Amino acid sequence: MNLQPRKVVEVIEPLVVMEGAGVRLKRSMPTRRLDYLDPFLLLDHFGSDDPADYIAGFPMHPHRGIETVTYMLQGIVEHQDSLGNAGRIGAGDVQWMTSGRGIMHQEMPQPFEGKMAGFQLWVNLPARLKMTRPRYQEISSALIPEIRREDGVKIRVIAGQVDDVRGPVTDIAADPTYLDVSLPAHAAFSCPVHSGHTAFAYVFEGQGALGATETDGGKSVSHPALAVLGDGDTFQARTAGQPARFLLVSGKPLHEPIARYGPFVMNTRQEIEQALRDLQDGTFVQ
Ligand code: MN
Repeated sequence: MNLQPRKVVEVIEPLVVMEGAGVRLKRSMPTRRLDYLDPFLLLDHFGSDDPADYIAGFPMHPHRGIETVTYMLQGIVEHQDSLGNAGRIGAGDVQWMTSGRGIMHQEMPQPFEGKMAGFQLWVNLPARLKMTRPRYQEISSALIPEIRREDGVKIRVIAGQVDDVRGPVTDIAADPTYLDVSLPAHAAFSCPVHSGHTAFAYVFEGQGALGATETDGGKSVSHPALAVLGDGDTFQARTAGQPARFLLVSGKPLHEPIARYGPFVMNTRQEIEQALRDLQDGTFVQ
């Protein structure tokens, strides 16, 4: 069987945007160049040494029809929601939140030695699950397996499977893979990616040649940048003089109509209007 390596088809440099009550973020999607990558709707990268960039946080706001995935590198996010859940997501932790029919929550960054860094990814829910019961998978750093390969490559497996190691986030409609991959200088990485799944790599430290094969040098991508990958069943990356660290994310596309309005992502405009009515009537959270 011939493996088909995935190539980089587009490189998106994130834009700086302000979100929440005034948080500075690097956003790769949705942007003018990249609206979404079905089933992924949004990727924000937050990171700063200056609390003024993030301390205002994300006060109480609703979500419906999606999953929000928060993966922290540094600092702490305190969260609280309409279902009575509360907790803190710290460095290396992940929170995979399925909003389903509706939650109201707040996400408030707390500095740790002044620093704060991480990601939020939005994953779409298929029509049949948009109004499902809200659910959390909150995984602390210690429970996320880290593969250490011989050449110094490290892979944290948050979701999906690599080298027979399975990530702790399970039972997600998009059948996602979510890896945090660190390559030292002069190293190579490869792993299988389900053919037909949408995939991207988000480089957030250093620089690497993504989509590299025996015969193709790949595309040189420097941080911060999102590399959209074409179809195939493996992904390969290589570093030269510099290390690199990136997220490798893939998932099954839904091929459904998308109607979005802020924190609501449904299939039709009518469903968005219903969400706004529910919010007004006080029936949004059940
Ligand atoms: Mn939120």
